Amino acid sequence: PLDINAVARSIKPSATLAISARAGELRAAGRKVFNFSAGEPDFAPPAAVAASVTRRLADAPVGYAPVPGLPQLRDAAAAELSAYHGVEITRDQLIVSCGAKHSLANLFMVTLDPGDEVVIAAPYWVSYPEMVRLGGGTSKIVSCPRAQGFKLTPAQLREAVGPKTKYLLLNSPSNPTGVAYTTAELRALAEVLAERAPQTWILTDDIYRKLTYGQPSVSVVRALAGIPGIEDQIVIVDGVSKSHAMTGWRIGFLAAPVPVAKAVTAIQGQTTSGASTPAQWAALAAVTEASAKAEVEVMRERFTERRAAMIKGLRAAGAELVEPDGAFYVFPDFSALCGEGARFADDLALAGFLLEDKGLATVPGTAFGAPGHLRLSFACSMDDIEAGMELLRQALASSA
Ligand code: PLP
Repeated sequence: PLDINAVARSIKPSATLAISARAGELRAAGRKVFNFSAGEPDFAPPAAVAASVTRRLADAPVGYAPVPGLPQLRDAAAAELSAYHGVEITRDQLIVSCGAKHSLANLFMVTLDPGDEVVIAAPYWVSYPEMVRLGGGTSKIVSCPRAQGFKLTPAQLREAVGPKTKYLLLNSPSNPTGVAYTTAELRALAEVLAERAPQTWILTDDIYRKLTYGQPSVSVVRALAGIPGIEDQIVIVDGVSKSHAMTGWRIGFLAAPVPVAKAVTAIQGQTTSGASTPAQWAALAAVTEASAKAEVEVMRERFTERRAAMIKGLRAAGAELVEPDGAFYVFPDFSALCGEGARFADDLALAGFLLEDKGLATVPGTAFGAPGHLRLSFACSMDDIEAGMELLRQALASSA
């Protein structure tokens, strides 16, 4: 047999994709399935995106893009990030990759040495620990339960950091909880890391930063300004996938110190080459066109209404939850229904019952390092949210 190597054998398949596949099978068999498991917007991208690509396709052949990205896109993304973060980010620091996921994987590949640790708060996005492992590092998972708003505390961070800590990974607003850190919370965490300067860095995954429903997102760079030892030690991952409904275009951005950006360029040069050229044109339109910004705002307003409906429906179904500040997920706590003597053995059994018996696709919290919870996405129609939440209420009310 053609053997699979040890690293690949250690990688867990994505739980999210497994649920989607099962939901697809049920649908193909003629069942109505409410899909609350999606990790992507259900909107079309801004009109300027497709228009720009169509125009350019007619004008010129689609050649290779430069490995670190089209200069215009690097400049535009760097300018946008500079404005948001209030510091100058130059083209040399900005690398375009095939999605934020690729940006993260590249960063881990070029900066982690065996034994290096990445502190990750649980609940966490499913791919983080797997990507850290692929990069040769070790994840230090810190459990942050609902009672503390799913957020890492300075005391927990102090406990978790050590001589091997390379990064604190932040994802605010978060997948799967939607919670976002305030300036005061970020500064309190950074004070702990500053004690470990210069070896420890912050990696901020800002993929959901434009999707917030109360206060706008806090720039980690702005929040930490003036804290010596950490204010200059921030690596940023950003992109257009979630904010601009462009998941399938596969464009992400990394803003890092120039030597890191060069190392990532070398890796991309020997693996993927530059990201897809038409997708980079598309991202350029997304980042620069005023009409695209306006359309993103419309999507955000639609998400705002859906968020409210889902929170209401989940509460009516008896769920305990922390209201999400951003992204498009709610992460209700169903631990009262799970465990010994309870109706379900665990969240996997609960999610299985909801999908198989009721046609409600959710993702079990275990996948995010938080058993007893489910992740529900409100990136679906209002009708589905209303009907689906009523079904959930009935399913959990009946003792069957
Ligand atoms: N970061 C987080 C927290 C995510 O939830 C996702 C997508 O699910 C990504 C990054 C990946 O983004 P992209 O599609 O740009 O690779």
